[in-house]
Amino acid sequence: MNKKKTTKKMEAITYTRKNGYTKISPATLKNIENFSKTYLTYLGDSKTEREAHDEAVKLLDKAGFKNLADFKSLKAGDKVYKSCDGKTLMAVVIGKQPLEKGMHILGAHTDSPRIDIKQNPLYEAGDMALLDTHYYGGIKKYQWVTIPLAIHGVFIKPNGKKITINIGENPNEPVLCISDILPHLAQDQMGKSMAKGIEGENLDIIVGSIPVNEKNKKEAIKHNVLKILNKKYGIVEEDFLSAEIEIVPAARPRHAGLDESMILGYGQDDRVCAYASLEALLNLKQVPHYTSCVLLCDKEEIGSVGATGMASNFFENVSSELVNLAYPQYNELILKRMLNNSWMLSADVNALFDPLFPGAFEKKNAAIINHGLCVTKFTGSRGKAGANDANAEFVAHIRRIFDKADIVWQTAELGKVDVGGGGTIAHLMARYGMNVIDCGVGLLSMHAPMELAGKLDIYMAYAGYLAFLKDTRK
Ligand code: MN
Ligand code: MN
Repeated sequence: MNKKKTTKKMEAITYTRKNGYTKISPATLKNIENFSKTYLTYLGDSKTEREAHDEAVKLLDKAGFKNLADFKSLKAGDKVYKSCDGKTLMAVVIGKQPLEKGMHILGAHTDSPRIDIKQNPLYEAGDMALLDTHYYGGIKKYQWVTIPLAIHGVFIKPNGKKITINIGENPNEPVLCISDILPHLAQDQMGKSMAKGIEGENLDIIVGSIPVNEKNKKEAIKHNVLKILNKKYGIVEEDFLSAEIEIVPAARPRHAGLDESMILGYGQDDRVCAYASLEALLNLKQVPHYTSCVLLCDKEEIGSVGATGMASNFFENVSSELVNLAYPQYNELILKRMLNNSWMLSADVNALFDPLFPGAFEKKNAAIINHGLCVTKFTGSRGKAGANDANAEFVAHIRRIFDKADIVWQTAELGKVDVGGGGTIAHLMARYGMNVIDCGVGLLSMHAPMELAGKLDIYMAYAGYLAFLKDTRK
């Protein structure tokens, strides 16, 4: 055997992950650039779960999807969506196969770690007005001080009127911030652990410092802030009681790296997979074999609880509605078969190997940037506890689908054994007996105000999800 042949044989029996840029075509390179442009727009316009929902609905409407309530019956090719309280969204393209054969589901989440305003938030201290907060999701608190912040959310008046607030994104608008103590006076703070250096109760937002121009006014600075809000939005202090106001980093996402190979932006966990899933559904050129379904859900970062979280019955209820409209008569057994026979990619992010923190990873089994869409067989922590550990049979199907479609992809686990862990919505869907596997984009600095992702990985998520939706299981 000559040398060349030996090498070829070795390639066949060994497995090596490769940087995707070493094997993609010029056409794919162009697709990556185009996809990251539209993604930047979606990510920049979707700073909250409500905004991510509304931007998704805009795209669905444009592509001819209609509200479930508009249908009297369902047939192959019909494009349907259903909203849950303006936060969670389910969009479906009815396939050629009957529903009881199962759906191909992409499930992502659109809520991201952030800082929420309390119900009675406004107070005065040190001749400044501040908003009291309670953070949402797993954040490292020290990362959120002294950076420009924006305020997004809704006030709902007792008569049901919704007032949307959005300040800090436009360069002409002011931003907000949380203070930190100067290093000169930080002797006490610097001796504390990073978890304790900034306390949760101290993540309060500075919103003003000018007293209202009225004689003998008590809390004149707070009053002035209320006057500004009243003039611009018609709200009074009591309206904070029925509001959902979120504080998020005040910057649009940007291309990152001198080679512009990455995206730096807030909320990529999990809006990166949400957008890739949505685009996959929107780009089904033909009626899919199996019914295609995209779930963009809320509350994942706090355990998927609540009416808009994946642990609620929303998905199952909408699935019942689909069965009801697609069959002459509703039958719960059809619903159960449909859920049991479904396949799902739990479209959520994983952690990229970070060369500055190599100790947190076992490199062979860590996601590497630009090595493609990341398949995570199991999540969980300390002995896989809490994991949806996907069947090898299902992983084999995923291999077949991605390899056939020339997807650059890799497998990974979330960090080294016993250093931590995490979960997704996968286990909540696996309850139905369906095949579910975690599959998404790797991120650096996950849950930080600015998260970093590779453009190739983002595009491969979209392309892989599209191949999954189109698959005929053969
Ligand atoms: Mn996530
Ligand atoms: Mn997360």
